[in-house]
Amino acid sequence: MQPLIYLDNNATTRPAPEVIEAMMPYFTESWGNPSSMHAFGGNVARPVAQARESVAAFLGAERPEEILFEGCATEADNHAIFGVTSAWGQPGTIITSRVEHPAVLGPCLRLKEQGHNVIEIGVNAEGLFDLEAYAAALEATPGPKLVSVMWANNETGVIFPIQRIAELGKAAGATVHTDAVQAAGKLPIDLRSVPVDLLTIAGHKMHAPKGIGVLYVRRGTRMKPFVLGGHQERGRRGGTENVPYIIGMAKACELASTALTDGSEKQIAQLRDKLEAGLLATCPDSRVNGCRTNRVPNTLNISFEYIEGESVLYHLSDRGICASSGSACAAGSLEPSHVIRAMGVPFTAVHGSIRFSLSRYTTEAEIDSTLRHVPEVVAEMRALSPFVKH
Ligand code: PLP
Repeated sequence: MQPLIYLDNNATTRPAPEVIEAMMPYFTESWGNPSSMHAFGGNVARPVAQARESVAAFLGAERPEEILFEGCATEADNHAIFGVTSAWGQPGTIITSRVEHPAVLGPCLRLKEQGHNVIEIGVNAEGLFDLEAYAAALEATPGPKLVSVMWANNETGVIFPIQRIAELGKAAGATVHTDAVQAAGKLPIDLRSVPVDLLTIAGHKMHAPKGIGVLYVRRGTRMKPFVLGGHQERGRRGGTENVPYIIGMAKACELASTALTDGSEKQIAQLRDKLEAGLLATCPDSRVNGCRTNRVPNTLNISFEYIEGESVLYHLSDRGICASSGSACAAGSLEPSHVIRAMGVPFTAVHGSIRFSLSRYTTEAEIDSTLRHVPEVVAEMRALSPFVKH
């Protein structure tokens, strides 16, 4: 059987062997509950405290107590949005973008149903955030405000100007949250210079396993707990700490710090650019979705006009190449993704969009192999397409 080629790293990443190695003792030997007063508790409470420090250092947080460990990024996004708005005690305004992940759009929809004012800021044809509309929305809305805007888009990789978004939001008295799930490990994050109040990251998008997320909460941010229970996380998130995964998250952050400085991310960008240039050259009527000069280094979203992305994926999968149709969440649905639609991608291309997302484990041989297979599949599909003149 041919080896599989994994190009779906924005959906999830391979857990790094170093991460698994760091986690193992916390399954086999140090399996205590960090809240216990006896030695079993102490044996894990100290490593959890160190892990909190590592994650704080990775993000440039001032204090380890600003780091909350949660079950996943979806929980962290829900916590940020419901936590802040439930502390208001009155209806207010939530400003978000039209291209957020459902982990943000879902809570916003619920808040709208409950009487809050939700404003979704649009993007242009390149997927870039409309800063002017955002500034106008901030100015036009009295009362309490929450901004929740992603740092980088999961489907196109397009980066939003989060520093400016945060500065404008803070100047208007808003609490500012960013979903940085697709930025973490791909772009430097430094909370000393980016004045957001809340930030979400996910372990499994940066080579830790699934089952761990982080919510950064800047000191002084007013919010209520979302998961009610024990006194864990200083009463801000109930539930016994998931010790092995917390240790794994910290290790993944350490590895990501190194990858951001040792040239690994540049290498990923070079491979992505090779894939992009090769596909544009060999597949006529293809177009890149999203601003090519303002993207995270690992992501390529490309449309092959006149054909269905889903069928291309299916045939690529047969050849051992694993990619995605933009949004993993939209997979299985025939609706084009809300991100691609928000960018106004033409009808002929909207259904043919495919996301290739690389990681530091992607090799040049894998990209070369992909470059051989994709044009063949696209040509085969086009030969069958009713939209192509034969
Ligand atoms: N936010 C973004 C930008 C994402 O890409 C994802 C996952 O794809 C999530 C949130 C949710 O992450 P999880 O499913 O791990 O909770």
